[in-house]
Amino acid sequence: MLEIKYSDRKTKARTGILHTSHGDALTPFFMPVATKAAPRYLSPHDLKEIKVQAIIANALLLSFAPGTDVVKKAGGIHGFMNFNRPIFTDCGGFQILRQSFFRGTTEDGIKFRSPFDGRNILMTPEMIIKIQQELSSDAAMCLDYCPPYGMSKEETEDSMLKTHAWAERCKKAHTKRSQLLFGIAQGGFYRKLRIESMKFMRDMDFDGISLGGLFIGEPKRDSYSMIKSVMRYAPEDKPKYIMGLGSPEDIVKSVSMGVDFFDSIFPVENARHGTMFTWHGKLKLDSKIYRDDFSPIDSECKCFTCTHYSRAYLHHLLKTQEQLGFRLRIYHNIYFMQRLMDKTRYSIEDKTFSKFSKKIISAYAKKDPEKSTESNVSERITVIKRKEKQG
Ligand SMILES: [Zn+2]
Repeated sequence: MLEIKYSDRKTKARTGILHTSHGDALTPFFMPVATKAAPRYLSPHDLKEIKVQAIIANALLLSFAPGTDVVKKAGGIHGFMNFNRPIFTDCGGFQILRQSFFRGTTEDGIKFRSPFDGRNILMTPEMIIKIQQELSSDAAMCLDYCPPYGMSKEETEDSMLKTHAWAERCKKAHTKRSQLLFGIAQGGFYRKLRIESMKFMRDMDFDGISLGGLFIGEPKRDSYSMIKSVMRYAPEDKPKYIMGLGSPEDIVKSVSMGVDFFDSIFPVENARHGTMFTWHGKLKLDSKIYRDDFSPIDSECKCFTCTHYSRAYLHHLLKTQEQLGFRLRIYHNIYFMQRLMDKTRYSIEDKTFSKFSKKIISAYAKKDPEKSTESNVSERITVIKRKEKQG
């Protein structure tokens, strides 16, 4: 349940408190991704140290490995990974975009091939709800069909109708009252379908509404135009969540449109490749100008990395592909995202949000932002492919 605290007068930005069975999360917030109950290169303890409020794991992948029986025996996902803060679980609909283990859809659900052992399964709405209830996450997602960018209107409409039928079945199957249930509004890049889907999810009276299938490789303006069109039909009192969005400038822009939270592997993927988020925009650590620069990544940052190591050392770790470098870079970017959200909330309540968001947008406009979502998606897919090879 969302308790709205303060609404900005100039924009649609707002602050609030999301109450869950594992405590409160102040909105707007950003969730790091712990797909298989593991944040990349960080421990759940690191996330607590960084003051991460909430994370998201993938129910579909956890049902493949280790299996929900193991997580259930551990007392649920919180006990299993020893992280006692709000945990969301995603359903697997986004995996449709990963052609490597998506095998098609039927009226009844989505066919997947397990990346771990190659077995084929048909994930139905009832199954994904059962899995999420057994994982005991704080917020579960309904099964959805995430249409790829460029899909025809007829096919997109069909995918949306499947998403709606599955949402009804998910709601019926969902019995765990301590777990929030979110409907995922889809509709591709067709305004009429997007609005129809948002109205459908609103009328279903879910605990929250997720906006899926945005920022998946299309020009960003297409996603913004969809968000703008649907937000006026979104229920005011319910939390709104954009799935898979994690660049600083897109987050502040979406907050100004009334969105309450986000998740993405974007900060981690950037860090992996040496792109660091700072209060002055992106810093590309691979540049040779950092070879003998002994200042921290960001002098304003108080994270473990910035208080202990220099750009020169981190440049060296990047160039030599040392594992330690991955960890230190990711630590900084995840820490930065949390402080970005802290400052976003303060600025909304302090009536300085417009000024703050303009500062972030202009700092991040310096580097070709149009390309970032595309590389984000292709990186996600590459990551999955590589995992499959290992598995
Ligand atoms: Zn730092």
